[in-house]
Amino acid sequence: MLERLAPASPDALLALIKLHAADNRADKIDLGVGVYRTGQGDTPVFGAIKAAEERLVETQASKSYLGPEGDMGFVEALMPYVFGADDPSMGGRIQGMQAPGGTGAVRLAVALAKAAGVSKVHLGVPSWPNHAQILADLPLEMAPFDHDCDDGTANIEAVLGAIRGAGEGEAVVLHGCCHNPTGIDYTPEQWREIAEALSDSPILPIIDLAYQGLGYGMEEDAFGLRTVLAAVPEALVAYSCDKNFGLYRDRVGALYVMAREAGDLPAIMSNAAALARANWSMPPDHGAAAVRLVLDDPALTAQWLDELDTMRARMRQVRERLAAAGQVGTLDLTPLGSQNGLFSMLRLDKEQVARLRSDHAIYMAASGRINVAGLTQGNIDKFIAALGDVAKE
Ligand code: PMP
Repeated sequence: MLERLAPASPDALLALIKLHAADNRADKIDLGVGVYRTGQGDTPVFGAIKAAEERLVETQASKSYLGPEGDMGFVEALMPYVFGADDPSMGGRIQGMQAPGGTGAVRLAVALAKAAGVSKVHLGVPSWPNHAQILADLPLEMAPFDHDCDDGTANIEAVLGAIRGAGEGEAVVLHGCCHNPTGIDYTPEQWREIAEALSDSPILPIIDLAYQGLGYGMEEDAFGLRTVLAAVPEALVAYSCDKNFGLYRDRVGALYVMAREAGDLPAIMSNAAALARANWSMPPDHGAAAVRLVLDDPALTAQWLDELDTMRARMRQVRERLAAAGQVGTLDLTPLGSQNGLFSMLRLDKEQVARLRSDHAIYMAASGRINVAGLTQGNIDKFIAALGDVAKE
């Protein structure tokens, strides 16, 4: 029976990793994989996480089961950073549970929305490919709208149109910050407009916050989310700690639910726990426990925030250097300076992307998405020159 399965389409980025690994050219550049890299090209474990892990090994007395909600100390320690220190539970209306990475949190959020009666989900495209894949797998109908305009800014009219036109039983997925793959975020003014439109619509907002702290800072990057939550009666938030704590393979995330009333939460969370049990029973513990130890210790918290500042400053520097190059052949790199996070999209066709690979040993997704953290002082000039070569007027 199993032989009936046709091969699933391979993950294009994983194929790219293999091609890059097999390339012997010393000056090859990898802009494909979505992880942060230092100026030396490494993706190190955060010092604060290493210290917390050492403490964890010394003090952890048991690895017995925790339950589908995972480490609630972790879930709650994160809340002031996500929802604001003043009233992180918004009067008891927000509660969370741990999930296996942001992916698990997104899966849980949309599955919970479906269980509550959502049948159609609006999504700005392009988006992180797994959004569409998860919706297709559930399945839920996906209603796409354009995320961005040709000039490298967000298409505010498209998202407002989707929200205003939506009826009962519909949800919208919004990237909280550092949009993947475009790097194009809504401005504070646009978030206010979105929040106002949401407040007037029956649509359920699902906010995916996978890169908090990688744009302008932990507080700044929560602006959109907090503006929306202040305006709407209910929302779901899918959170990832895999980038901002460098925990990628440890799979650290959380689902937060903001309910109309605190009294609604026990029933909602019992449904989320039931979905989690059927999917993964309970989330992996180690990374979340390390994050909890970091957030419970002021010295480790300060060290973590400092390390996050360094990451963010480096990505800004790379973006500023790219933006300063301005017009390179047919490409205008200027908008990359005001885009955020790890990713931006270059308006290159598949042939140009292939030529960057064959002629210049530069690896990026066929869509033209680049990971700006793959660029360093040592390779950025070569990269800009190569763009000039493949994108000649
Ligand atoms: N949402 C978005 C927008 C992402 O880009 C990603 C990861 N690349 C995730 C969620 C999931 O992150 P995680 O690795 O924690 O599963």
